[in-house]
Amino acid sequence: MADEKAAKTGPTKLVIRNIGLVLSGELKTPILDADTVVAVDGRISAIGKEKDLDLGGATTVVDANGTTLIPGLIDSHVHPVAGDWTPRQNQIGWIDSYLHGGVTTMISAGEVHTPGRPKDVVGLKAMAIFAQRAFSAFRPGGVRIHAGAPVLEHGMVEEDFKELAAAGVTMLGEVGLGSVKDGATARQMVGWARKYGIQSTIHTGGPSIPGSSLIDKDIVLAADADVIGHINGGHTALPDDQIISLCESSPRALEIVHNGNEKAALLTLRTAKELKQLPRVILGTDSPAGSGVQPLGILRMISMLSSLGDVAAEVAVCFATGNTAKIRKLDCGLVEVGRAATFVLIDKAQHSAGKTVLDSIQRGDLPGIGMVIIDGAVSAQRSRNTPPATRVPEMM
Ligand SMILES: [Zn+2]
Repeated sequence: MADEKAAKTGPTKLVIRNIGLVLSGELKTPILDADTVVAVDGRISAIGKEKDLDLGGATTVVDANGTTLIPGLIDSHVHPVAGDWTPRQNQIGWIDSYLHGGVTTMISAGEVHTPGRPKDVVGLKAMAIFAQRAFSAFRPGGVRIHAGAPVLEHGMVEEDFKELAAAGVTMLGEVGLGSVKDGATARQMVGWARKYGIQSTIHTGGPSIPGSSLIDKDIVLAADADVIGHINGGHTALPDDQIISLCESSPRALEIVHNGNEKAALLTLRTAKELKQLPRVILGTDSPAGSGVQPLGILRMISMLSSLGDVAAEVAVCFATGNTAKIRKLDCGLVEVGRAATFVLIDKAQHSAGKTVLDSIQRGDLPGIGMVIIDGAVSAQRSRNTPPATRVPEMM
């Protein structure tokens, strides 16, 4: 959208001033010393103090009114189907609802809820390419959906992965949701995918719904997919010793999801912290699912992990932003010059007992969202879904 606009009306320049706090999404430096962010044509061009920056020629000015700027949230695990509709609970407009929960980027873990999903090789390839194309061109509320994630079926050969990659497919859906459920075949196919630049995720834990099946620690380790999908189960978790073993024995990403076992989520977080491997922790909802859709799912995970898992709120935000962006190779997720100007402006919710927005999250409250900006354009103002923010930004 930013590109189209630039072609018609010349360059756009967004200035966000009077920011109370900037969270970077980067674990090493989660809080930046800045009160102003500038973006040109949808990319961050400067971050710093207002007095030091060139604010001239702005096409949009946002007065943040002392609120906190964080990178747009990334949901690392969704199951989209087509458009802004999910047949799982027969809802429309679910993606737009997530925008009002601060989610600006979604990663498909497979379009497996598609009614009549083809399971033959040519059919599954066609569906993946269709989903990749359709969701690249369709952005509800501006949300970017990375989709086109085929699940592994028996009969796929190396040439299929080469063909999928050449057609623009960049990731696999959850290994284990198709007919390939054994470690050896999964490992071979994940290897072919990796060879052609296709990232992989594996289902971890008990079956999600009737018809799916158990993937235990041994299969996860054998398959060696890039992301240990819902390590806390989706919803049924593996026993504690298997989760600890996955954290210790595999170098792969540890994906914690909302539609999983919360005790296992906290065990994963604690283990990753002890191993000094927090950069591996990423967050998803694993929705839509039997548990429905959760527009505030990622915010709820941040709050739950921060309050019960005893990590600072600014660190928990990194799990849903910078960590995921690095592991998923995305151009958003960090407040850094050159990155996509995709942000959420939050403040403590009205009547939270927290003294500041960070304190409120650490106490288990959700922050209120006052504005969502995607690629330098304002996509939403006061959220219709979060508790009301105490202060909200204004467009000048
Ligand atoms: Zn799953």
